[in-house]
Amino acid sequence: MAKVLDSKIPAGPVPEKWKEYKAHQRLVNPKNKLKLDVIVVGTGLAGASAAASLGEMGFNVINLCIQDSPRRAHSIAAQGGINAAKCYQNDGDSIYRLFYDTVKGGDYRAREANVYRLAEVSNNIIDQCVAQGVPFAREYGGMLANRSFGGAQVSRTFYAKGQTGQQLLLGAYSSLSCQVNAGKVKLYTRYEMEDVVIVDGRARGIIAKNLVTGKLERFSANAVVIATGGYGNTYFLSTNAMGCNCTAAVQCYRKGAYFANPSYVQIHPTCIPVHGDKQSKLTLMSESLRNDGRIWVPKKIEDAKALQAGTKQGWEIPEEDRDYYLERRYPAFGNLVPRDVASRAAKERCDKGFGVNNTGLAVFLDFSESINRLGLDVIMQRYGNLFEMYEEITDVFPGDVANEINGVKYYKPMMIYPAIHYTMGGIWVDYELQTTIPGLFAIGECNFSDHGANRLGASALMQGLADGYFVLPYTIQNYLADQAVWPKVSTDLPEFEEAEKKVDAEMDRLLKIQGKRSVDSIHKELGHIMWEYVGMGRTAEGLKTGLKKMHELEKEFDENLFVPGTKEGLNVELDKAIHLRDFFTMGQLVAFDALSRNESCGGHFREEYQTEEGEAKRDDENYFYVGCWEYKGKGNEPELIKEPLEYEAIKVQTRNYKN
Ligand SMILES: Cc1cc2nc3c(=O)[nH]c(=O)nc-3n(C[C@H](O)[C@H](O)[C@H](O)COP(=O)(O)OP(=O)(O)OC[C@H]3O[C@@H](n4cnc5c(N)ncnc54)[C@H](O)[C@@H]3O)c2cc1C
Repeated sequence: MAKVLDSKIPAGPVPEKWKEYKAHQRLVNPKNKLKLDVIVVGTGLAGASAAASLGEMGFNVINLCIQDSPRRAHSIAAQGGINAAKCYQNDGDSIYRLFYDTVKGGDYRAREANVYRLAEVSNNIIDQCVAQGVPFAREYGGMLANRSFGGAQVSRTFYAKGQTGQQLLLGAYSSLSCQVNAGKVKLYTRYEMEDVVIVDGRARGIIAKNLVTGKLERFSANAVVIATGGYGNTYFLSTNAMGCNCTAAVQCYRKGAYFANPSYVQIHPTCIPVHGDKQSKLTLMSESLRNDGRIWVPKKIEDAKALQAGTKQGWEIPEEDRDYYLERRYPAFGNLVPRDVASRAAKERCDKGFGVNNTGLAVFLDFSESINRLGLDVIMQRYGNLFEMYEEITDVFPGDVANEINGVKYYKPMMIYPAIHYTMGGIWVDYELQTTIPGLFAIGECNFSDHGANRLGASALMQGLADGYFVLPYTIQNYLADQAVWPKVSTDLPEFEEAEKKVDAEMDRLLKIQGKRSVDSIHKELGHIMWEYVGMGRTAEGLKTGLKKMHELEKEFDENLFVPGTKEGLNVELDKAIHLRDFFTMGQLVAFDALSRNESCGGHFREEYQTEEGEAKRDDENYFYVGCWEYKGKGNEPELIKEPLEYEAIKVQTRNYKN
């Protein structure tokens, strides 16, 4: 029988109960905070906000990141915005509605209580960031402006042009720097966590590599928090920053932390299509563009064929021959359906031959209607940097007039296609964001907590900052309250010695292979396997084939990898090899989870389980749980442990974005 997990949820999302729970929280005596050290790994929005908050509360924080500055964390890439239920538009928004939309958007696979808490603190985040000076867009009258993101019929997304992540990160970085200056946070840039150290069953420290000198160093603390981001780069091509990796999370998994819902991977509908074999990165065109851009393909297959052959251009196709397929299929939400729905709909059109570029794997995102209605100036104010980014990459400026039909101006449309973007799965955490290893916490994208099987746009920044500013700094104290009297352990303990030796031996192993294949060539092949067999449409047979191919390729990695140089000093190839080792573990985990979940929900689409209209078909009777996986050694199948989901406030039903 599968083991069953207890999430320590204080029963349901009902506010009264949450208040009751808060009353039970124990805060560490202020005098004792000065004796307590916390390691925070990561300086993205989750890590930087947590480190700054813990520092401000009096703890001694050790904060590490792989980049040369916290400001370069992947969070800087976030474009479109951050959600909060302020209801500045008077459009009927509320905490309950944000909570409801998020649970529904996640296809009823999120933990209800966590989502309620997230919605509850969302407004505090905006206040906090405004106080830090984050330059959110404002209306003419001075009120903060909002726009809409997928899966919502209200405008609740706060934004700073198309650079919201960057501006929020600068805000968090200012707070962090203040604490560095105050001596409460010690920052280690260009340090990579290679392992977590467990002493007497508790996380007591980490082994980190100084990426410049190559030396391994030991850090000890009373608790460890990982905020190391998602595992999207397992697929090689993704919208994630090139440095994103899952090494820290996978090492925690290997040491006993459960990994939850790994098959819930988000494929974003609006990315610049793949255009060649030599590409190593994909670029997102923010979902915010779907506020004003309309998605379409030709109605006639001959038009699609002409577009693919390059004998016709999109702007030559008259209005009546365009199929705005999202508006047609989902009239209630139109272009603003959630990402999983929009991505599958694009794939469906392209699979049927209606794709619009030379590979047949693209659809149009067209601003003609909104530019005609609002003027190019307004559109540029909203999306200027995204239009420029698109032009820089494709040499097409979406604000250029291309044609005039019956007195209506047509502008050059963007071409977009779905791509790997975000991972809803992650290290399992309880309600207090603690993993199955006592003293080890996980926050931000690297935990699994709040998005169920599909994340709504603008909710990752909300979750990262909720975790970092408003949840972890309080919940971690329940753990630390018991630790206040315990001295910090010495890094001379045999547990540290052993962990460091193992990391060192792994580096030697990788360097000694001296085969013929570069890290990237193997990673690219892994990416192909993932996309083909564990991607947008999955089948039991395909997943088994994918697993087999991954095992074979992992063998190739172990026997034929070539890493130049030595472990002394800077060796980027060695670091990438370590990441790739862990992407193999992760890829297999995604496939195992996808194979075990015989249903379709959110980003996990099993082709065997769909309605006649091609919508995801859930099986609540058998799969209404969080799927957690326990590591059982390399090459062995991990063990599935279930955390049953309990919904009190929301009625579980089939998602409907049509009416
Ligand atoms: C192109 C793009 C646009 C997006 N736009 C939006 C948006 O508009 N709204 C929204 O809500 N979400 C958006 N997202 C998602 C959002 O940006 C991320 O989910 C979020 O920023 C993740 O934050 P994080 O702090 O959890 O992790 P990250 O920002 O990924 O930070 C991870 C940190 O961990 C460190 N790290 C990693 N591994 C190690 C290690 N082993 N040792 C030490 N340090 C390590 C890194 O140095 C880094 O500091 C977007 C994502 C992408 C790719």
